[in-house]
Amino acid sequence: MKIKLASDIVTDSIVDGPGLRTVIWTQGCKHKCKGCHNPQTHDFNSGFEVSVDDVIKKIRKVKLQRGITLSGGDPFEQPEALSIICKEAKKNNLDIWAYTGYTFEEIMNQNNPNHKKWITLLEDIDVLVDGRFIEDKKDIFIKFRGSKNQRIIDVKKSLINKKLIPHSDYI
Ligand code: SF4
Repeated sequence: MKIKLASDIVTDSIVDGPGLRTVIWTQGCKHKCKGCHNPQTHDFNSGFEVSVDDVIKKIRKVKLQRGITLSGGDPFEQPEALSIICKEAKKNNLDIWAYTGYTFEEIMNQNNPNHKKWITLLEDIDVLVDGRFIEDKKDIFIKFRGSKNQRIIDVKKSLINKKLIPHSDYI
């Protein structure tokens, strides 16, 4: 299986979640938020394809990382490939953070045609930062988010309780 990336995988990031993290920048985003920092990641025809196996090999080789972060672009546009990658990362004791422009409620909406594959990916994620970037709500002082409407969600607890539970470390 292939995945479309916007750039090479970045290691040792300290701004995309806690600890040292390996960041996968996916290509393609439909949200077109005004003021987006990564407009080059929007076009689904841009970026480059790599095999999921190659991404996994890279993740296995990297040392001293606390986890991986799925970013973009919107990772939820490529849920099948990322779900495979997340499962492998878990085997290497890495935690998973993901950023998406979709809200938790949109992902949980059973009427959404993507619901099933989104839930499959969500089940592999530990922490989700959700929602579009809203320029009027931009706040440079909040940790790991661009704008105040975005939420840092404890995914495991939210799935068990079937409602959004903010991550207790970031309330
Ligand atoms: S969801 Fe993220 S990548 Fe997509 S337009 Fe909004 S800020 Fe940019």
